[in-house]
Amino acid sequence: MFNLVIFGPPGAGKGTQSDKIIEKYQLKHISTGDMFRAHISQQTDLGKEVQSILDNGILVPDEITIRMLENEMSQYTDVKGFILDGFPRTVGQAEALDKFLESKGQKVNLVLELEVSQSEIEQRIHERGKISGRADDSADKLVKRIDEYFTKTVHVLPYYEAQNKVAKVNGIGDIETIFNNITVEIDKAL
Ligand code: ADP
Repeated sequence: MFNLVIFGPPGAGKGTQSDKIIEKYQLKHISTGDMFRAHISQQTDLGKEVQSILDNGILVPDEITIRMLENEMSQYTDVKGFILDGFPRTVGQAEALDKFLESKGQKVNLVLELEVSQSEIEQRIHERGKISGRADDSADKLVKRIDEYFTKTVHVLPYYEAQNKVAKVNGIGDIETIFNNITVEIDKAL
């Protein structure tokens, strides 16, 4: 299996590039943000529990997030690998993921960091908020999400850098160019 973590701030283009990676490499897409949003729209117990957390742009507690992710990943035993989008977002989640994969004789093979400046991110999400209808794309929630990224999530990078797994790709430019640079990194790690 080939397990890829796609990493970058909110609005870096993780979803867009994930779609293209899935198409080319046939990996199973796991997006914790999408999973939480599905629970919320279906009004499950989990959805009710996390709704206000997402609305406020803060991170869902690790315990809840890890349990949901492991349940989801356990359902796919016959896949070429996973692309993890939006997870891990804390060092605790990264450690839990390593343990989980290890118990299955697997590992994280590559962490792709999409590099985008903070000013570019703010502009992109502001634009997206006009059409996405996502409650957490409004200006004040965005500030909170970016803050969560720079205070909690960035620490995940040194965790993987210590394992020599991080490849950085410039996230500014046209979608195809970015994707080509991503494929170079994936092909090197395959
Ligand atoms: P973004 O577009 O900001 O990258 P996502 O769609 O990945 O956002 O996630 C939306 C929200 O879902 C986050 O702001 C957070 O509340 C919650 N969330 C998603 N993934 C995680 C995670 N791994 N740990 C904690 N909370 C998460």
